[in-house]
Amino acid sequence: MANQPTSRFAPKPARLSNDTTIHVAQLLQEVVGAARQARVALDGLPLDEDALARGVEAEIKLTRIPAGILAAGEVAATVTVPCIRCLEDAAVPVRTDFADEYRPTVDVMSGAEISPEEANEHEAEYFTIGGDHVLDLRESLRQAIILGLPMAPLCREDCPGLAEAVDGAGDPDDGRLAVLGRLLDGGEAGDAVADDGRKPARRTGS
Ligand SMILES: [Zn+2]
Repeated sequence: MANQPTSRFAPKPARLSNDTTIHVAQLLQEVVGAARQARVALDGLPLDEDALARGVEAEIKLTRIPAGILAAGEVAATVTVPCIRCLEDAAVPVRTDFADEYRPTVDVMSGAEISPEEANEHEAEYFTIGGDHVLDLRESLRQAIILGLPMAPLCREDCPGLAEAVDGAGDPDDGRLAVLGRLLDGGEAGDAVADDGRKPARRTGS
């Protein structure tokens, strides 16, 4: 241990385990362009009331910029969402980049409050760093994962979908299943109410 080389200028990344907060008082006092690396690992991160991202891992570079700190990096996670074909839960891998600006609300040197600039429509949104000079990456990670979710998640590439699952499931004499299967196949719905959003091919008089 004693003879291990040390470098003041290339510090190891900060490792955050089930934590998304980093003290940035020091970085805020450094020159523009000064940077830190951080690695975050979270067992779980709620995306909203229903969805949870699991196995969240992120590599982040914090860079001092004139307005505050830029947090940029890549996040990977697994999110359970309904498969668009069969509606069963599907564990979908997400990997996405993000870059968010964080601005201090209290001057790190003077302790004076920094009044937020007037809202500017053309300016990108930013997050804030509180008076404790702690930068919380949670919202960056949460929003990045949500934006990284696929538009059409599948439980597996060749998911047969609900129609085949219904056709192949159980008793062919079950009338309700047969009707449902026909509806999903796009066949004649007859007088049945088509609640899948399609208009009936033709209306039989009323
Ligand atoms: Zn599926």
